[in-house]
Amino acid sequence: MALRNLRYIGDEILRQKSREVPEVTDRIRELLADMAETMYHTGNGAGLAACQVGVLKRLVVIDMGSGLLQLVNPVIVEQSGTQDCVEGCLSIPNRWGRTVRPQRVVVKALDETGKEITVEGEGDLAKCLCHELDHLDGILFADKVTEWISPD
Ligand code: ZN
Repeated sequence: MALRNLRYIGDEILRQKSREVPEVTDRIRELLADMAETMYHTGNGAGLAACQVGVLKRLVVIDMGSGLLQLVNPVIVEQSGTQDCVEGCLSIPNRWGRTVRPQRVVVKALDETGKEITVEGEGDLAKCLCHELDHLDGILFADKVTEWISPD
């Protein structure tokens, strides 16, 4: 495993659409492991998309404190309700803003073994899934902020 360099807002790669992963290979598993290590290394990240380490593949890692989720080609197949959120992003350091997200989402993806999985997320997990999946389409939470919150 290895740490990867984070990309920050202003970097064009964050605005590009990531490509589907045709097969979950050892190389993909290694990349997912690197993404997880990079996320944990920051000490405050709950999720990371591959484009944030400069790779335009549809890969996301998430850990909301109850274990690591590794998602390949994730897609939201169901969503309901709305919630008021406060969001930040490892690619937009020290900025926080209010957004509105679905209260609940259902995501289909492949896991790190290539098996089809369904992840149901409510509240913070729903927020995080929406945030990370947006990255795969070049969308940043900053695009959806209704109000910025000063860092203090
Ligand atoms: Zn982000």
